[in-house]
Amino acid sequence: MTILSVGTRPADTAVPHGLRVGVLALQGDFREHAHVLRELGASVELVRRPEELDRIDGLVIPGGESSVMDKLARTFGLAEPLRAAITAGLPVYGTCAGLIMLADTILDGMNGQQSLGGLDIAVRRNAFGSQTASFETDLEIPALGEKPVHAVFIRAPVVETVGAKATALATLDDGRCVAVEQGNLLGTSFHPEITGEYRFHQYFLQKLVAAAR
Ligand code: GLN
Repeated sequence: MTILSVGTRPADTAVPHGLRVGVLALQGDFREHAHVLRELGASVELVRRPEELDRIDGLVIPGGESSVMDKLARTFGLAEPLRAAITAGLPVYGTCAGLIMLADTILDGMNGQQSLGGLDIAVRRNAFGSQTASFETDLEIPALGEKPVHAVFIRAPVVETVGAKATALATLDDGRCVAVEQGNLLGTSFHPEITGEYRFHQYFLQKLVAAAR
């Protein structure tokens, strides 16, 4: 298991004053995301109630357990307002369980598990099985620059189908897709928030700033 490593603040990130980035804080590693976003200069709002959605310009959905996150989102009355916000164009970045929450279709979901949807993809939960529950690898991701991304996968999903509206950003050596974007939505099977890798959050903040203009 990789230990949280704290990266240094990249010099070239500028988040205009007044923009607020929400982090869905129902369950999972929301604190790690909040840390990275604050290091990048963003104002962070932890989101647990529907009314808190009105105060944010974008949202990160963390890693954790998607079936639990789904249940809590419905229990707290967040699921429907979140769906509406995503449809209305709210920029959202989901990692691992967060990616599952953003997928239009979940494969191997728990009984009755629902997603918020938005990404035109089918995602398979726990796609690497119990033998390889967690692993690390380096990924070439041209959209983020030349330096490979060190990616940590923890009971991770894969994007089994990339629909016409979505674009694959990263694939494993065997061709399986592990990062996608679609308009204001971004999703990764892995966890940049725990490795000091800030480029995905920067990439997301660029979407957020552009959407707020
Ligand atoms: N396996 C988890 C799920 O189904 C995701 C794991 C993670 O977020 N690290 O939600």
